[in-house]
Amino acid sequence: MSLLVMKFGGTSVANIDRIRNAALRVGEEVARGHDVIVIVSAMAGKTNELAGMVEEISPLHDAREYDAVVSSGETVTAGLMALILQEMDIPARSWQGWQVPLLTSSAHSAARISEIPTENINAKFSEGMKVAVVAGFQGLSPEGRITTIGRGGSDTTAVAFAAAFNAERCDIHTDVDGIYTTDPRICEKARKLDKIAFEEMLELASLGAKVLQTRSVELAMRYNVRLRVLSSFETAGKTAGTLVCAEEEIMESSIVNGIAHSRDEAKLTLVSVADRPGIAATIFGALSDAGVTVDMIVQNISEEGRTDLTFSCPTSELARARNALDGIRADGRLNFHDLITDTDVAKISAVGIGMRSQSGVAAQMFRTLSNEGINIKVISTSEIKISVLIEKKYMELAVQALHDSFELDSAG
Ligand code: ADP
Ligand code: ASP
Ligand code: MG
Repeated sequence: MSLLVMKFGGTSVANIDRIRNAALRVGEEVARGHDVIVIVSAMAGKTNELAGMVEEISPLHDAREYDAVVSSGETVTAGLMALILQEMDIPARSWQGWQVPLLTSSAHSAARISEIPTENINAKFSEGMKVAVVAGFQGLSPEGRITTIGRGGSDTTAVAFAAAFNAERCDIHTDVDGIYTTDPRICEKARKLDKIAFEEMLELASLGAKVLQTRSVELAMRYNVRLRVLSSFETAGKTAGTLVCAEEEIMESSIVNGIAHSRDEAKLTLVSVADRPGIAATIFGALSDAGVTVDMIVQNISEEGRTDLTFSCPTSELARARNALDGIRADGRLNFHDLITDTDVAKISAVGIGMRSQSGVAAQMFRTLSNEGINIKVISTSEIKISVLIEKKYMELAVQALHDSFELDSAG
């Protein structure tokens, strides 16, 4: 019996009608002879609402209780989906993370999946169950407590199930009909891709394209899961969505294949730190100990043995970063004149495997931004991406201008 994993995101299960619509998609695959594992998200907006309530009680909340609360949205959707499938005469049962059990680390709110035993669910399939509806996002820690695996984590639950159960395919149903050259909500010229390479999707996801959680792409790449992104609002077969696959499966590839953006950026500048060996290690060691994920780093030219040092991190980690730096200043490990922070920034990135062998992409990117009068604050590059930090108000303009400049609206 072939098995499919079908994931439905928040907008696709936003109310009973939408869950019914999703259940019809599942029913179509059951009618084709598949067993199905359905992974559901919480209804649109639910997780934010739950997280908001926790924040209201305490910004420095106990992470175990945060997970107990925010994981509950998925529990509701899973039960509702199972009920609707049963109403359609499809043998279905819901599973919460702990019932599977989806085993994770104990890093609450950002737990890593360690194992998904298949016995419980497979036993039910052999008794005639056709659909297992699993609550996404949820796991079980070694201490026996409920964990969550990071915002957008249901994508990762889906891919992890596809890998564990050796599924034929993992279909991620969402509110757009595939992966585009850039966010179609920001750039109307965005073009849907038929295929995208794992490496490119990995970069786009980690640089802010939230259509797939980064971890889900990592897992799909590692376990060679056939991963597809498609709309939950169109009948199966009408659109094939986008396949995320190995580079070798893609015939034609441009130098730049996608533009990503992220508003979730904070820029910090340490003014006048000593320019001598060990200083960077002190600063970034303290930030790392505080759990701050530093992204871009620039160090200015040194004058009279002192220099300015700028770096970026997610906005949610800004307070922790400031704490850590104040801490090493207070205990005398670091001396600086000032710490300037700026959250009015956005990160724009151009991504493409073709950059490995082509020069000139950075120059074209900087020229395009300069033609629009957009100032670049920080730059970082890797083998297949170039990122810049710019003023937030120019974010959409920058995405559109770069999309035009790299001619992403036309294939090839
Ligand atoms: P779900 O609730 O189904 O998980 P998400 O909101 O997490 O959906 O992800 C889908 C959204 O991702 C789209 O609505 C779109 O705005 C955004 N997005 C960002 N970049 C891209 C891209 N390159 N292609 C498609 N969608 C993108
Ligand atoms: N409901 C969770 C979130 O909003 C997980 C998900 O939808 O993927 O982050
Ligand atoms: Mg999502």
